[in-house]
Amino acid sequence: MAKTTVIGAGIVGASVAYFLSEKGASVVLLDASEPASGTTSTSFAWVNANNKTPKEYFDLNVAGMNEHVRLRDEFGGGAWLHETGNIIVAGEGNGDELSRRVERLRSWEYAAEMKTAAEANADLEPDISFPNPETPVAHFPDETWADAPRLALELVDSARKNGAETRFGEAVKSIETEEGRFAVHLESGGDYVEADIVVNAAGPKADVVADMVGRSLPLDVFFGLLVRVDAPENSIRRLIHTPTVNLRPDGDGYILLHHDSVDERLTDDFAGVEDPLCRELLERATRLVPTLENASVVEARFGFRPVPGDGYSCVGAVPSVPGYYEAVTHSGVTLGPIVGRLLADEILDGKVDSLLAPFRPGRFS
Ligand SMILES: Cc1cc2nc3c(=O)[nH]c(=O)nc-3n(C[C@H](O)[C@H](O)[C@H](O)COP(=O)(O)OP(=O)(O)OC[C@H]3O[C@@H](n4cnc5c(N)ncnc54)[C@H](O)[C@@H]3O)c2cc1C
Repeated sequence: MAKTTVIGAGIVGASVAYFLSEKGASVVLLDASEPASGTTSTSFAWVNANNKTPKEYFDLNVAGMNEHVRLRDEFGGGAWLHETGNIIVAGEGNGDELSRRVERLRSWEYAAEMKTAAEANADLEPDISFPNPETPVAHFPDETWADAPRLALELVDSARKNGAETRFGEAVKSIETEEGRFAVHLESGGDYVEADIVVNAAGPKADVVADMVGRSLPLDVFFGLLVRVDAPENSIRRLIHTPTVNLRPDGDGYILLHHDSVDERLTDDFAGVEDPLCRELLERATRLVPTLENASVVEARFGFRPVPGDGYSCVGAVPSVPGYYEAVTHSGVTLGPIVGRLLADEILDGKVDSLLAPFRPGRFS
């Protein structure tokens, strides 16, 4: 039986390790830190295929949504998965664009409908203060959010029960390759891990790990900010996307806030919960949901989005380095479980699913 080593125990690496171990492989899962403590712990974690184009990328993301539901059943309920649905509120003058998106998604058999703000208040979210009763609102009932660290930790635990070895708190510092075998050296020195197969699931550090086997992986890393607020009068029920702020519940009594327009202004000297950007996000949220008027910021999570050079997932064998595989992607919360299952099939059965065909590492050669 081939010895497999997975580098990175975020949602992506934990999924790969779990599915490899389910299929009976010998697995060592390595992480420089604690499992699920990287980008996986700083994600908005919206599980969706909403604005994913072209169709091939949409299909992969729909498969990701379905895999969450399949795993939920496999794990006897899946408390990490919050099946709330999502709404998107049109910006000034953007109603037609939103309607066209809903039409396209419906033609791809994705659950989507248009409502007015008045209908959304009556049927979905009574406490939102929309710009006016006619504001167009799109509703996507099958979209969910995931408690990504909880899922990753469950996958790590289940992989261990299947016999996987885990070594956390030791970074991989170099990888030697000889005659198709690998020696994975850890920062602690001395000891190394022998492997026939190495999977790079190092998220925003995946380019550094790729470099260790002489492979150049183009990777962009973008900052992202999530602000957690206490919300005693918590009255939002689902994911909510608006032109100024995005919100979702984050466990009893808490709401998570995010917006791309704030991410764009993040810099290295971000000051944590006291940073004006946190206050600004809360002010925007309070204008939308007035019951948040007494809420306060309790946590600021600063994240690093790993985005392969052309923006799409990079999954599978790297032809120039036999035995070396990559599992690197943005939207990794949506895609982690499906990437894990398909990559385990590829590694152990030599089967490359057609869903992955457009997203192979070989395009970055
Ligand atoms: C603000 C924000 C919002 C987001 N919103 C969404 C969303 O709504 N929906 C969605 O699907 N996705 C979203 N994402 C993206 C998603 O969170 C990521 O794609 C996903 O978490 C990546 O998971 P990962 O396992 O690849 O990386 P990580 O979770 O970062 O895991 C990589 C692991 O590799 C380890 N590692 C790195 N280098 C080494 C080394 N040399 N040796 C050993 N271990 C190493 C790290 O310690 C880390 O634990 C968002 C991201 C951000 C930042």
